[in-house]
Amino acid sequence: MKNYIVALDGPAGSGKSTIAKIVAKEFKLTYLDTGAMYRMVALYVLENSIDYTDETAVENALKNIHMNIIGEQFFLNGEDVSLKIRTPEVTKVVSPVSAIKAVRVKLVDLQREISKGKNVILDGRDIGTVVFPNADLKVFLIASAEERAKRRVNDYQSKGINEDFNTVLKGILERDHIDSTRKESPLKKANDAIEVDTSFLNIQESSKAISDLIKEKIGG
Ligand code: C5P
Repeated sequence: MKNYIVALDGPAGSGKSTIAKIVAKEFKLTYLDTGAMYRMVALYVLENSIDYTDETAVENALKNIHMNIIGEQFFLNGEDVSLKIRTPEVTKVVSPVSAIKAVRVKLVDLQREISKGKNVILDGRDIGTVVFPNADLKVFLIASAEERAKRRVNDYQSKGINEDFNTVLKGILERDHIDSTRKESPLKKANDAIEVDTSFLNIQESSKAISDLIKEKIGG
């Protein structure tokens, strides 16, 4: 069978990365968390005091950003930043940074390069619409904003970070808005994507829904 691509898109907290990891293991796929790549750019911008609203400044910084991804470990210019990229500070600036065209061009190229010749599951916002419009299976995950905020708060808690529900909910709604209204590659369901609502599904049920789709559509 030829190599295949599974595109898993959806808003923040819809369960993409948790589900992608489980499914990747089951079908022995390479998993690429594209959100983590945008987070690395956001982290670089923050750590180097670059004004993230200044598109030219961010674009100029891109040549100094070298990313390396080994499994679920993310290296930014040689440093393992896997934990740092998940902090609320990075989360706050990642959406405006990823709305910049030059950032997207660089990362989309890299995503295609990494995926070459492999069976891959990628999670993100624009995988089925822009990165791989010919993906073999496109899934668009959704869940209510309240449920997504609840998951994010639990996620932070497991990392020892205390963020209150309302702050997280507000951040999620803001990110949804920026991600879905931006000019470049907005978050939207591809016409041929299958929508799966995880609001009332636990992790096992959600990942089973995706596994079943892979078996049905690809036969993996
Ligand atoms: O998936 P995650 O929440 O880690 O993504 C962080 C941010 O990166 C998103 O809110 C979005 O602004 C951006 N992103 C994107 N395109 C992708 C993946 C993530 O614009 N393919």
